[in-house]
Amino acid sequence: MTDVQKELRDEVAERITARGLLDAYGIRYRPGGGRNELSAKECPSRSDHSSPSFRFNEKKKLWRCWSCNTSGDVFAFVAALEGLDCTRDFAQVLARAAEIAGVTPATLPPAERAQRITALRQGRAAREQAQRELAEREDAMAIRRATAYWNSLSVRHPLGERYLEGRGIVDVADTRGRVRFDRTDAPGHDHWSSNGAPALALHDLRGRGISGVVRRRLPEVVARDPRGVKAPSLTGCRSSGTMAYALDEIETERDVIVAEGIVDTITALVAWPQAVVLGANGTGPLPRLIEEIAKRVVRAGCRMFLVPHADERRQGEIAMAAGIERAIHAGLRLGYDVIIVDFGTEKDLNDAWCTGWRFL
Ligand SMILES: [Zn+2]
Repeated sequence: MTDVQKELRDEVAERITARGLLDAYGIRYRPGGGRNELSAKECPSRSDHSSPSFRFNEKKKLWRCWSCNTSGDVFAFVAALEGLDCTRDFAQVLARAAEIAGVTPATLPPAERAQRITALRQGRAAREQAQRELAEREDAMAIRRATAYWNSLSVRHPLGERYLEGRGIVDVADTRGRVRFDRTDAPGHDHWSSNGAPALALHDLRGRGISGVVRRRLPEVVARDPRGVKAPSLTGCRSSGTMAYALDEIETERDVIVAEGIVDTITALVAWPQAVVLGANGTGPLPRLIEEIAKRVVRAGCRMFLVPHADERRQGEIAMAAGIERAIHAGLRLGYDVIIVDFGTEKDLNDAWCTGWRFL
């Protein structure tokens, strides 16, 4: 960047405002969110958020979209809306930002500028539509593949059953067919497949069926092939959703158990034989999953039990706390219809189960 450019950049950064930027691109906003913040349902990459997840801090001149997980400064905002790369096309971004800030005169007459913004928005809407269609096609493919794969898996397997026995699951029949075993000769198997690995189906959150399969790698397989993945999902399919049961199976009069990880989910199937057990594949998807489950639980009028899963980095607790907040927002009451299961000092359900803990 030249000295002149640097000077211009600093002047623009000083004079440009969040409101000026939002107005320049026709984005409707209102004060909201945190201190000094403006909020909008539209962000630089999406025009159709269902809630105002876009925030622009007027004082810091920084923005963030909580849904898209994107953020940046005023120049990144201009770049995103103009379809430019903030580093490569910085000269163009700066020129445009300078016009918006009123540092340099407008190069286009107002009518032409308005037309350009309309064209930019239409281009973005078309891209969003194409992305949605692509996602639909990918989902349909994942569901076909995962459903066929799940149906080809074994319901019994000596290697897998021996592993489960070591985790306190004495009879696989207690899991009511929700646990199956991977096999390397299954049609469509991938490079993570191994004989006897306990597997769970991943159910699509929109109720469209089984969209993925996750497996727990057996210790002897990990010893041979120490790739750092505990629970690989089926290649080409989804890696999140609900493990074991589907959201649609939530019904009145049946408790709902939310667990995290394959082993705790399998243990929950045995620990709560009457319940609908829904597992999250890792801490990342947990808050969103709890939110979706909570909405169904509210409608069914049943109760939700959360199975905590401690880890060194406390990610499990943090994710669960975020989920509880969403569950309360959905209408559940903590301690009444959303209940945190307590198993004392044990770090997770399976450890507790193995030491004789039982839910009474
Ligand atoms: Zn967004």
